[in-house]
Amino acid sequence: MYQIKTIGILTSGGDAPGMNAAIRAVTRSAIYHGLNVKGIYRGYKGLISGEIKEFQTQSVSNIIQQGGTILRTARCQEFMTEEGRKIAYENMVKEGIDALVVLGGDGTFTGAKIFANEFNIPVVGVPCTIDNDLCGTDYTIGYDTALNTIVESVDKIRDTANSHERLFFIEVMGRDAGFLALNSALASGAEAAIIPEIVTGEDQLETLIQRGFRKSKNSSIVIVAESDSTGGALGISERLKKEHPEYDARITILGHLQRGGRPSAYDRILASRLGAAAIDALLDEQRNIMVGVVHDDIVYVPFTKAIKDDKPVDAVLMDVLKALSC
Ligand code: ATP
Repeated sequence: MYQIKTIGILTSGGDAPGMNAAIRAVTRSAIYHGLNVKGIYRGYKGLISGEIKEFQTQSVSNIIQQGGTILRTARCQEFMTEEGRKIAYENMVKEGIDALVVLGGDGTFTGAKIFANEFNIPVVGVPCTIDNDLCGTDYTIGYDTALNTIVESVDKIRDTANSHERLFFIEVMGRDAGFLALNSALASGAEAAIIPEIVTGEDQLETLIQRGFRKSKNSSIVIVAESDSTGGALGISERLKKEHPEYDARITILGHLQRGGRPSAYDRILASRLGAAAIDALLDEQRNIMVGVVHDDIVYVPFTKAIKDDKPVDAVLMDVLKALSC
């Protein structure tokens, strides 16, 4: 039996609010169960360069409420090569790390899966991304906070839109997933959401125009998911200018403000539950899996399933949005 004594923890890919709460939960839960913890800085980069520190209970004090990640994060090309991963493994052995907990999104888990298979090490993933685009979990850490940040921003923009009787296209993040756009549109009372999942076979802008949107409104807000397939807010408004010059639209791209800020209570609780579940999974001899939550229950999802790129949005929500914006 593979006896785990020391775990390494790292955050990788884009930062997400709640990552710190998850670092705290993994660290404290591991120590509670008698394991040693080592913090690896700057994701896979730090595993290769050996930027690794012993963590105690106090190393994660006073961070549950902070956005970003105290471990820092990075994208690491070198980890995509066999040579890079070999150096990473050698550093793990040198540091006495027997298992890894990785916090990140699909790229992070793709790398983790390859690494775990190559060197036969237990690796567990904790889903941290504002995009909510990982399969096998209803929610990812950071999504709820980002959603709330977007809604707060849209409320403010609506004040201006109403005062000036204007049409606004507001672009939100999501990297080819429409969860943030669709749900922020619902929560902010927007007229519509343009999301990548619906792009095929339907011209969403034309559908909106045909529906006669704005007829009875003194302002309109359309949330657009960033994506090559939607064209983003800029692409949509360029088209509108060309094809329907009677409309005068304004654009706001919310950008990185969506990633920052104090995590919501929901994200802190989710991070605490999933962080503890990651340690339970390792002690239960599970490997190559992501911890997730489905119908509020903790689940263990193989990396291969988590990184499949077709997590569906709930199409019914599109209909609800349409009905509520008539
Ligand atoms: P986000 O969803 O916030 O972008 P992410 O985890 O998907 O987060 P990526 O930049 O895609 O972020 O991936 C993070 C890191 O994972 C990469 O910089 C790289 O080091 C590693 N990684 C990604 N894909 C692979 C791969 N195919 N092989 C090895 N490592 C990989």
